Amino acid sequence: MAVYHGPVCRLCRRDGKKLFLKGKRCSSTKCSIEKNRKRPGELGKGFMRKETDYGRHLREKQRVKRMYRLTEHQFRNYFEKSTRKKGVTGEELLKELELRLDNVIYRTGLARSRMEARQLVTHGHFMVNNRRVDIPSYAVKVTDVITLRKTKVPPNLEDALLMKVTPPKWITFDKESLNIEIVSLPRRDDVPEEIEERLIIELYSK
Ligand code: SF4
Repeated sequence: MAVYHGPVCRLCRRDGKKLFLKGKRCSSTKCSIEKNRKRPGELGKGFMRKETDYGRHLREKQRVKRMYRLTEHQFRNYFEKSTRKKGVTGEELLKELELRLDNVIYRTGLARSRMEARQLVTHGHFMVNNRRVDIPSYAVKVTDVITLRKTKVPPNLEDALLMKVTPPKWITFDKESLNIEIVSLPRRDDVPEEIEERLIIELYSK
C-alpha cells in the first residue's frame, strides 16, 4: 500500500494520539489533538466504537508505521529484520527505525518533521562519510559522520533550528558546523514517543 498523502492531522485524530507529522504545529495549541477534535467519521457525542483486542494491536502498528512514514511493506521488512537479531525483537525494531537517515535528520532538529527530513535527504542535501546519500531509509552506523552539502542549504533550516531540538544521546550534533556523528546505537529509552512495541510484535506473530 502506498504512503498516505492526505491531511496528516487526520491520521493523528484517527489514532487519538500525536504522531508529530507537522513540526512546530505539533507542539502548539493549533494541534488537532490538543484541541480535542473528534476522530474522523466519529458520529455525535457519546459515540464510541468498541475496540477489539485485534483492533488495539493493529492500531498501534498503524500508528508507528505512520509516525515513521513507512508503507506496510517497508514496515514489515523492518519487523522481519528485527526478528533475526539477537536482542528483544520490539527493541530491535525501534532501533532499526531510529537508524534511518531521515529519522536521524529529524531527531537532530535539522528538519521540522520526518516528512521534511525525508524530502531533504531525497533532494541530496546530506553526505554520509563524505559521500552523497539521497536514500531516506539509509541505515546509519556508529561512527558515521553526516554533513550538510555546502552548496545545498535546506530551505527551512533556520526555522528548524529555531525549534531548538535536543538530539538524543546516541547522536552528537555540532551546531556551528551542523555536523552530525553517530556515537552509539539508540536504546529503548532514547525513543521519546509512547510506543507499545509489544503489541506490534504480537500482531505480526499471530
Ligand atoms: Fe498530529 Fe502534529 Fe497535526 Fe497535532 S499538529 S494532529 S501532532 S500532525
